[in-house]
Amino acid sequence: MDQSEGAGLSTTAGSIFKIIRDQGPLFPTDIVRKTGLAKSTVSVYVDRLIAVGLIREEAKPGGKRRMLKVAESAGYVIGVDLGQTHLNVGLCDLEGEILDSVFGEADLLHETPEAILSRVIEAARNLSSRNAFEASALFGIGFGLPGPVDYVHGVPVSPPVMPGWDRFPVASYLAREFTCPVFVDNDVNVMALAERDKGAAAGERDFLFVKAGTGIGAGIVVDGRIYRGAKGAAGDIGHISVGDDETLCHCGNRGCLEAIAGGRALASLARRSAESGASRFLAARLAEKEEITAELLGRGAAMGDEESLRLLIAAGKRLGDVLAKLVNFFNPSLIVVGGGLSNLGERYIASIRESIYRRSTPLATSDLVIKRSTLGDRAGVTGAAILVLDEIFSQKNVGSLMRNIPS
Ligand SMILES: [Zn+2]
Repeated sequence: MDQSEGAGLSTTAGSIFKIIRDQGPLFPTDIVRKTGLAKSTVSVYVDRLIAVGLIREEAKPGGKRRMLKVAESAGYVIGVDLGQTHLNVGLCDLEGEILDSVFGEADLLHETPEAILSRVIEAARNLSSRNAFEASALFGIGFGLPGPVDYVHGVPVSPPVMPGWDRFPVASYLAREFTCPVFVDNDVNVMALAERDKGAAAGERDFLFVKAGTGIGAGIVVDGRIYRGAKGAAGDIGHISVGDDETLCHCGNRGCLEAIAGGRALASLARRSAESGASRFLAARLAEKEEITAELLGRGAAMGDEESLRLLIAAGKRLGDVLAKLVNFFNPSLIVVGGGLSNLGERYIASIRESIYRRSTPLATSDLVIKRSTLGDRAGVTGAAILVLDEIFSQKNVGSLMRNIPS
């Protein structure tokens, strides 16, 4: 086989695999229709993909014809979801389904990277051994963390709430322990991938995922792929200035979206309303020595407390105003809102939606859908697994795998 034949073969194999991964299970005839390739050509590549163990045939109930899908049990990946206060590690199959997991706590402000990563290693080893799989079946590890990440080098860069993690070589540290590739990205990008494959954005090619929690960030998906920008900082919308407000942000600037409408900001507004008595609901919670959190605003609003409702509508409006600018700029078909604040209730989401519609151009909003995430606390682990799968199953990688087997 000469060089050009090899390249053609690998490109075709890669694209057939991608169609099966994105849209499967599929009949071979579906692949013929979607690729425009000859039936005999598709059949040759499908046989090869089955031979290397990347896809398998699945009998359709009641039918004789067989459908093609990813051979989900041919190997495993580990997804790691590190948050400010949690560390979740999951063992996933090659379709990103969580098979087993260890959900635990973390304290990013006080624990060293070494301490946390040693728990990751221990959890990954435990998951592997209790599910009785060989080290060679581990295809990769994906890691989502709450800060900016230099994706190419797999290192966090000046994460504001993770002392000691600046430039810490997370990917190479873990790669030393496991003989598999390790991919590190920020938590919001990772959650956007989970939405794309398993959540509210299934089937969408151009969408924004917004994480509204203690921090606020966005994952930008363009043509099905995460857009990371020149240095990996794309989507860091929490520090966009909202203008008239002078509240100091932990980044050192004033008037950042996160400092005004993030979880910490809402908790302190709620505390003020509890102390002043502006909210009877919150004042009662305070009197009962309950911790005053942003989450309480959702409970208060649901029980008819007007002050709670006013605060969460104002926060939704602030976020919506920033998202409206992004809609005008990027024209997504969908915005998925996730993170802790998305649980504040439908009135919060409605307030975001109203601001976006009011402030965006009619063409950009004509078919725009704004939805709440439904993945809950599985999003981080699932997305981290998908991060690995996207990389190891890239068209180029699948192609070179095919080139290495004799025809
Ligand atoms: Zn800021």
